[in-house]
Amino acid sequence: MENFDAIIIGGGSAGLAAAVALGRSRRSVLVIDTNRPRNVRASHAHNILGQEGINPQHLLERGRNEAEHYGARIIVEQAEKLSGSVKDGFTVETGNSKYSASRIVLATGLVDNLAEIPGLAEAWGISAIHCAYCHGWEVRDQAIAILGIGPMSTHQALLFAQLSGRVIFINHQPGSLAAENRATLEKLEVPIVESRVANLRVDGGGQLEGIELGNGEQLEAQAVVVASRMNANAGLYQQLGGTLQEHPLGTFIQVSDMGATGIPGVYAAGNVANLGAMVMAAAASGTVAGAALNAELALENISSQSHTTHA
Ligand SMILES: Cc1cc2nc3c(=O)[nH]c(=O)nc-3n(C[C@H](O)[C@H](O)[C@H](O)COP(=O)(O)OP(=O)(O)OC[C@H]3O[C@@H](n4cnc5c(N)ncnc54)[C@H](O)[C@@H]3O)c2cc1C
Repeated sequence: MENFDAIIIGGGSAGLAAAVALGRSRRSVLVIDTNRPRNVRASHAHNILGQEGINPQHLLERGRNEAEHYGARIIVEQAEKLSGSVKDGFTVETGNSKYSASRIVLATGLVDNLAEIPGLAEAWGISAIHCAYCHGWEVRDQAIAILGIGPMSTHQALLFAQLSGRVIFINHQPGSLAAENRATLEKLEVPIVESRVANLRVDGGGQLEGIELGNGEQLEAQAVVVASRMNANAGLYQQLGGTLQEHPLGTFIQVSDMGATGIPGVYAAGNVANLGAMVMAAAASGTVAGAALNAELALENISSQSHTTHA
């Protein structure tokens, strides 16, 4: 079985940044990735300093080239099983092979669970958007409908009202709109539509054409803003006995400032550990986890040498 200093599971921004940090420290690195980053449906990535508006796949292609330049090996496979410990070493199994490593970085991202509204999945990432910093500028001044479904919805209204004077709030799940949030919407002068959404009319390219309400009314809107429930893609961590932290917006793996999880030898970076991390924050946390892992291995090397010397 091939052995590596580190196996990184997930080759998005977080995983590839960890691979670059480790490769540059002359660590042997395997990245196992299914290449389905969270923003796969977006054509541009924004708030990427120095690469503003880059196509997300081009960004990752550059990251893969950089990681490979420093010796990382990248395979397109799904990691299915993770076992072992820091004492005995870790084993990762894919459908085809088994690999072992001294340390693991989990950079598997999260899953956006969407409300079950016809048309929403088709529009997701194109005209059904969640993040003012990712898509807000692109929909400035447009007719924007905020889907009122939970704790994030009023916050989204606050941010999108900064970008357009044509924002409405559809109270899809009335029980989730607290009195203070209703007051916030009133202060923002965002009209509240008291109906659920029955259907989003979407063209073949994912562009919203209109909204059909439960009360039969039709609304014109060019974008719908919707919060997903964000659940860490953390089945492998759970296989090792790790538990997930609950958050009002989903679940995540708790890590230290340096990316260490509660399981010795296992690091986590990016969205799997921080639901709010955008691309640059995910990459930054990958660099930090890679650096911390490298330092841990370096200390382990000298401590095993001193044991040998005194024996
Ligand atoms: C529609 C949309 C648009 C966005 N736009 C922006 C934007 O403009 N700017 C911005 O900064 N942020 C944006 N984001 C957020 C951005 O997608 C995340 O910040 C970023 O993807 C997090 O990087 P990550 O490496 O943590 O996870 P991901 O990019 O999701 O990468 C995780 C990787 O792990 C792989 N993987 C998972 N499980 C396994 C497994 N078991 N075996 C092997 N591989 C596995 C996946 O295939 C994937 O390649 C957007 C998000 C969405 C949903």
